[in-house]
Amino acid sequence: MGTDSVRPLVATDFAALRQTIGGWRRAGETIALVPTMGALHAGHVALVARARVLARRVAVSIFVNPTQFAPHEDLDRYPRNEAADIDLLDAESADLVWLPSPALMYPPGHSTRVQPGSAAAGLETEFRPHFFGGVATVVLKLFNQVGPDWAVFGEKDFQQLAVVRQLALDLDLPVTVVGEPTVREADGLALSSRNRYLSSEERAVAPALNATIQSAAEAARAGGDISLIEAQAAADLVARGFAKVDYVAIRDALTLKTYDAGAGREGRVLAAAWLGGTRLIDNVPIAA
Ligand code: AMP
Repeated sequence: MGTDSVRPLVATDFAALRQTIGGWRRAGETIALVPTMGALHAGHVALVARARVLARRVAVSIFVNPTQFAPHEDLDRYPRNEAADIDLLDAESADLVWLPSPALMYPPGHSTRVQPGSAAAGLETEFRPHFFGGVATVVLKLFNQVGPDWAVFGEKDFQQLAVVRQLALDLDLPVTVVGEPTVREADGLALSSRNRYLSSEERAVAPALNATIQSAAEAARAGGDISLIEAQAAADLVARGFAKVDYVAIRDALTLKTYDAGAGREGRVLAAAWLGGTRLIDNVPIAA
């Protein structure tokens, strides 16, 4: 077998995408989709590995989605490295890379937007009000384009995972949404395409985000006062060198609403904080 036959196919238009997907479907093969914005790292690789276990065929989309960025955000400088991404996906035995252009995804006149459900209320939405509408719109489009049986998302973006689960449930999408645990550096920092923006000083401070929310999770598990733990964690982050804390929130892991330590339900500590001009997010579980 030549190398070409094992490289992932790269589709950049609907004709090529439909031909490949149609061939798989006629052969009765199942499909798992991993949506990404590229600049792939070991976190994305874990999603691809999970997809490999779930389905016969693995499609990975790479699309830096303009509708989820506000005008002042980092759309223009978001890292892009498609050649390296395709090499990595080749090594990970992905079957298809779906690489639509912004013009293909949002042609002139495109104006329909998905309004996400209650999972989008609060947390990220308070600071990025446009964000989940953009995510839900592009995820629904990707699901319609690829028609996957499975879709794999990272717990790294915990509220996003909840929004996508609700999207699939509420709109009767014939896809099972699967969450994959966060892949971290040895010092606890969650892998993120945006970590490359960090200066060496900021990189040294960054693991404090995970350490702080771990401590908050332990305090919440021990039955401490939730508001006090949240406030203390936010203060700790500033003391440890974060420029600004958007939120530290202790929530029910399923509903993302108020956490009740005595209810025997799983909780989650979610946080977003700034190091210089870089916004980091992370979350950790509170066992039931
Ligand atoms: P992104 O390319 O950042 O939009 O992320 C694409 C997918 O990869 C999303 O489902 C993310 O939650 C997931 N992801 C990003 N970072 C990680 C990580 N460190 N561990 C696991 N999944 C991740």
